[in-house]
Amino acid sequence: MYDVLIIGSGPAGLSAAIYAKRANLDVRILEKNMFGTGQVAESSEVDNYLGLPHSNGFDLGDKFRKHAEGLGVEFITGEAAGIVKEDGIFKITLKNGEILESKTVIYGAGATHRHLDVPGENELRGHGVSYCATCDGGFYRGKTVAVFGGGDTAINDALYLSKLASKVYIVHRREEFRGSKQYVDKLMNTENIEPVLSEELKNIEGDTKVQSVLLKSGRKIEVDGVFIAVGMNPLTDILQGTVDIDASGYIIAGEDCVTSLPGFFAAGDVRTKKLRQVITAAADGANAVDSAIDFLKNSR
Ligand code: NAP
Repeated sequence: MYDVLIIGSGPAGLSAAIYAKRANLDVRILEKNMFGTGQVAESSEVDNYLGLPHSNGFDLGDKFRKHAEGLGVEFITGEAAGIVKEDGIFKITLKNGEILESKTVIYGAGATHRHLDVPGENELRGHGVSYCATCDGGFYRGKTVAVFGGGDTAINDALYLSKLASKVYIVHRREEFRGSKQYVDKLMNTENIEPVLSEELKNIEGDTKVQSVLLKSGRKIEVDGVFIAVGMNPLTDILQGTVDIDASGYIIAGEDCVTSLPGFFAAGDVRTKKLRQVITAAADGANAVDSAIDFLKNSR
């Protein structure tokens, strides 16, 4: 039985692992995909992580992981399918049927890409529809693409794609972008990016690959690729009935990462919080371990 089982190997999980290891706790990270570093790997540029300006998201995630590996943190590849607490012990059942036992759990499973649920989106996924500009942008060299969304992710995606594609449309449903001023300014000053405001996607057209997008106003834009960046859904389905979750699916917890279930802590994007960034996820990892240490001391 472990002292701490961390679920998720994004910045929250990796930071928690470093703090747990340095506190001499018997810790493991459970991760769905081997060598994971979470969503940060998908960011073309992270410019607001203290001390590491102009970082490429993939490289930054890799640095976090190497830090944890360097301290001897062990990783288990597997997907949690259910979590119960019985007689003061957490039993985490994996999809392959294996059961892990731990005195505490730090849940940092993050979030998945939200969909727009329009005709053509599912059918043309992988054939011109993508949720990750840094993963798929390379296929659109010299082509025309449209990015949907108005937050930092959509803006960063548009900026990244502008270096590859000949033309980038960024379509947002409001009159103004939601993203940081610094990124919006850069967007507005990039010649091959055309903002399309107060517009929404009606459907994505094409037989075997994307050919155009039809907007709700009736405007049609011919594109080779569509990048959807309209936010995330927290990965908390397996926790229904186990711990308190808000109406949007986030685990209710404060800065100390303490949840309604004693010994179960929420860290990173899955937690109710105002600002979801790499630095706030890393901070959660540290706070979650501090709370786990208090819990372990008090339950002796
Ligand atoms: P977000 O800030 O929640 O933005 C989602 C965007 O999608 C919003 O503009 C929203 O429109 C739009 N949207 C949502 N549902 C929609 C729908 N059904 N139809 C049309 N548009 C829809 O999400 P995010 O951009 O992924 O960012 C998440 C967090 O990560 C933020 O805190 C962000 O600052 C941070 N982040 C930081 C960086 C960086 O610093 N490098 C990079 C990426 C993300 P409304 O504006 O109308 O709500």
